[in-house]
Parts: sequence; structure tokens; C-alpha cells
Amino acid sequence: MKNITSIRHGGPRHWVGDGFPVQTIFGYTDAGAELSPFLLLDYAGPAVFAPTAQKRGVGPHPHRGFETVTLVYDGEVAHRDSAGGGGTIGPGDVQWMTAASGIVHEEFHSRAFAETGGPFEMIQLWVNLPAKDKSAPPAYQTITRATIPAVELPGGAGLVRVVAGRFQDQQGPARTFTPIDLWDVRLGAGAKAELRIPSARTAALFVVGGRVRVGTGAVLEAADLAVLERDGDLVSVEALAEAKLILLGGEPIDEPIVGEGPFVMNTRAEIDEAFADYRAGRLGRLPAQA
Ligand code: MN
Repeated sequence: MKNITSIRHGGPRHWVGDGFPVQTIFGYTDAGAELSPFLLLDYAGPAVFAPTAQKRGVGPHPHRGFETVTLVYDGEVAHRDSAGGGGTIGPGDVQWMTAASGIVHEEFHSRAFAETGGPFEMIQLWVNLPAKDKSAPPAYQTITRATIPAVELPGGAGLVRVVAGRFQDQQGPARTFTPIDLWDVRLGAGAKAELRIPSARTAALFVVGGRVRVGTGAVLEAADLAVLERDGDLVSVEALAEAKLILLGGEPIDEPIVGEGPFVMNTRAEIDEAFADYRAGRLGRLPAQA
């Protein structure tokens, strides 16, 4: 069984642009090695937005060296990037953006959601790339709710939506550079589940909502993350209240992590180069608004 090695709590909220009230659950500076290949987890909301005619979110900004993965629970997020990628995702959908060699993108509430307003909740995960793939061309995957297999747990305990990796006989649709498990898990109050992440992989359980006991140990509340041992393969969870969870698993990338802001590379020189390339316009620019 994978026991808990540490628990992280959501910190104070800060605004990312004017659209995302975010708690950073972990970041690469303090947790990049421990949670490799995962670099960062931001949890935005839950919040209720009033209707507006304005564009709320974050304007054009770069990334290089990793992937950003956005899961929406409530609301709608629209994305456009310099590689021609773009799309709008809503509840249950996922954007998997590969920045790799470099991209410029913007992230906003969709126009339709901004106009109606309402509840908003999403997470964004940053997934590192091995050094050999940091120079890959950028890419973009829209993973809609309908393409994500949902596996019913025995006894009506709940549901596992497999975004990436394999759960039981279902393979998630996300294409990844290294082995990644990303599962959206829903448990009913009182339900118990046993989930398997292969031994030697990084594993962590994030509580989006509800309250759970992990193994025989600690009780986690909303916005808590349990970092689990790499040894063992069994993650045992009991929902003390109806729960929305994210289970992360991944093969660690055993390489130096040097990052600053939106760039995560292996050396300081590569970070300096990323800033120089961005300033010189070499990460591209957004197409004119349609
Ligand atoms: Mn971004």
C-alpha cells in the first residue's frame, strides 16, 4: 500500500489575470523533484462570477519545457495559442497543451460563460517533459467529456474517469510523453475504493471537494493534497462525505529542474535563452482575433 508521506494544504487565493482565483497546491520550486513529473497544481475556485460583457482571464503569455493540463468542473475556459491550437472546454472536458519548444497562449472565460456568469471551478496541472522532448513542437489536445472513459466502481461506490493512463481495462485518451495517470474520481458518501498506481511511480491524491481518509491514516479536506509513497501500488480511499478527487500517477523524470515563471528547463542557461527567445518573438504570437 502507498502510505502518505506528506500533506499539502491550499494556500491563500491569488488572482491569475482577472479570471482565475487560484490556490497553488504545489509548485516546482519546492515540490518539483518530490512530485516529478508533476511541476505545479493550481486550483481555481469554487467561485461565482457575475455576468459581464468583458473578457476575463489571462492575456498572451509564454510557456516552454512542459505541458499544461486544464480540467473544468464548472464554467467554461477558452484557449488560443501561437501554434494554431485553440478551443473552448466546459464541465468534464480537458485541455492538454504541450508547450515543449515554446508557445504563446491566452486563457479566458468563454464569451458565453462570461455573459451568463455562474459557478466556476477548474484545476490546472503542469506536467514536465524529459530533456529530450523539451524541444518537441508544441501541440494541443482537446479531450471532450464524451471521449473520457468512465469506469464504475464495484458496489456503486463511484466512478473513475480516465483522462490519462490505464485504469482496469480502460485507457485514457490523452497522449503523453512519459507514463502519466490522471484520473477524475467521484466517490459517494461512505464509499471505499482501492485504486492502483504502479509501484515506483510518483502518486498523489488531490481533494477537489468532500472529505476522505487515505489508507488507515489522515483525513483530507477540500484543497488538500496527499503525497503518497512511490513504493507499493495500492491507494486505498474512504469517502467520509461525497468526494471529488484527482489521482495523479507518473514515472519520475530524474533530471535537474530549473524554472522561472512560465519556463521550466534543466539549466539556468536554458531559462535565460527562453526569456531571450520570448522577448525576440521566437515563441510565436497569437493569430489576430477572428
Ligand atoms: Mn498559461
